[in-house]
Amino acid sequence: MVHTAYPSSYYAASANCTSERPSLREALETDICVIGAGYTGLSAALSLLEAGFRVVVLEAARVGFGASGRNGGQIVNSYSRDIDVIERSVGSAEASMIGAMAFEGARIIRERVARYHIDCDLKNGGVFAAFNARQMRHLESQKALWQRHGYEELQMLDQAQIQQVVATNRYVGGVLDRMGGHIHPLNLALGEAAGVESLGGTIFEQSPVVNIERTSSPVVRTPEGSVRAKFLVVAGNAYLGDLLPELAAKSMPCGSQVIATEPLDGDLAASLLPQDYCVEDCNYLLDYYRLSADKRLIYGGGVVYGARDPDDIEAIIRPKMLKTFPQLAKARIDYAWSGNFLLTLSRLPQMGRLDDNIYYSQGCSGHGVTYTHLAGKLLAEALRGQAERFDAFASLPHYPFPGGRAFRVPLTAIGAAYYNLRDRLGF
Ligand SMILES: Cc1cc2nc3c(=O)[nH]c(=O)nc-3n(C[C@H](O)[C@H](O)[C@H](O)COP(=O)(O)OP(=O)(O)OC[C@H]3O[C@@H](n4cnc5c(N)ncnc54)[C@H](O)[C@@H]3O)c2cc1C
Repeated sequence: MVHTAYPSSYYAASANCTSERPSLREALETDICVIGAGYTGLSAALSLLEAGFRVVVLEAARVGFGASGRNGGQIVNSYSRDIDVIERSVGSAEASMIGAMAFEGARIIRERVARYHIDCDLKNGGVFAAFNARQMRHLESQKALWQRHGYEELQMLDQAQIQQVVATNRYVGGVLDRMGGHIHPLNLALGEAAGVESLGGTIFEQSPVVNIERTSSPVVRTPEGSVRAKFLVVAGNAYLGDLLPELAAKSMPCGSQVIATEPLDGDLAASLLPQDYCVEDCNYLLDYYRLSADKRLIYGGGVVYGARDPDDIEAIIRPKMLKTFPQLAKARIDYAWSGNFLLTLSRLPQMGRLDDNIYYSQGCSGHGVTYTHLAGKLLAEALRGQAERFDAFASLPHYPFPGGRAFRVPLTAIGAAYYNLRDRLGF
């Protein structure tokens, strides 16, 4: 059987515990079978176990093998498209329900970290940084929008103020989200997996689901075993492949790349980000960065549509890092890796049901650390018969990519190039 290890990354090298779980080698029965042990699957499993269900999680590789164990670690509130776009996409009742949930994912993370004693270097404070006046106006309207939904944690930063929190002269200002923040993403996933097991859930690694028998009591098969369940939760996101063609048709895996420097001298690290906030800029193809607990700069950016891994990640990301922080010209790059997120045409997440017993959530389009935690909770609510909040998300429109599978990559790349050009020209 194929054995899939964690990709080499700073996170895999600093993981709290990487002892491997067994693969599935028997025929099991359970209430809920979850496919995928990223944040979506683990969050759903935790909520379902807390509600008293029997849960089996099947993971193709390792816990947090996908985006959840490779991401920038930034806790970003709200969604990949903001609440105003959602308000225009669905009815007003659904829109206000989704607006009310926009800040719940970050709360769920903090609750889980506290309840399950997860050691994942949680830090408070995230900054959105603007390059120009248009982006500042957008941040101001975002602040007003979030305030309309009861969120009072944003603080505008002018040019002088942003230079107090990030040592670069690239930005004209920004906004600080006091309840944003950052984590070691793989250690968060590993801690949540331990939480699942502490509640009696079972997680099998190296157990890819290769077939689903879609009957009134669905059976999922792995190379050496099977699970019959009352319900399935599909949480494979960008790594799901063609297991469920309906889901693959309306989404596109995309890669993003990250580097980690060597541990920086304490004074240098503190001079770059004195309050230890994480930062993402406001460009369409954005850069994101933060310090790790051992004072490396973790810098991400770049998108590869169709999720091909670039040959030389350092060559793509290091120049971006040096543009922001020329002070790091001599810093060695210790790690470089990439991971896949799932893009949807609207950049809105997709949640729903297939048949009556297969539930899914996917496609948070780049900002998923908080949304996936919310999604897991909503999947569990729906399976407990309280589907109102789940159905609000399920009412968001899902569109296929124009041009189908053959043209979705080039057409999306053209669209992104247009937005990238607008950013470069500053309008
Ligand atoms: C490089 C990068 C940086 C990012 N940075 C940020 C950030 O800073 N902030 C933010 O908010 N978001 C960020 N994101 C997005 C965020 O990480 C994701 O949206 C989120 O982690 C998705 O979680 P998930 O559980 O849905 O999917 P994943 O974490 O990808 O998990 C899916 C899991 O399902 C498993 N699987 C797939 N198919 C099968 C199968 N057939 N059988 C069994 N298992 C299967 C996979 O092996 C995988 O472990 C980033 C993404 C990337 C790639």
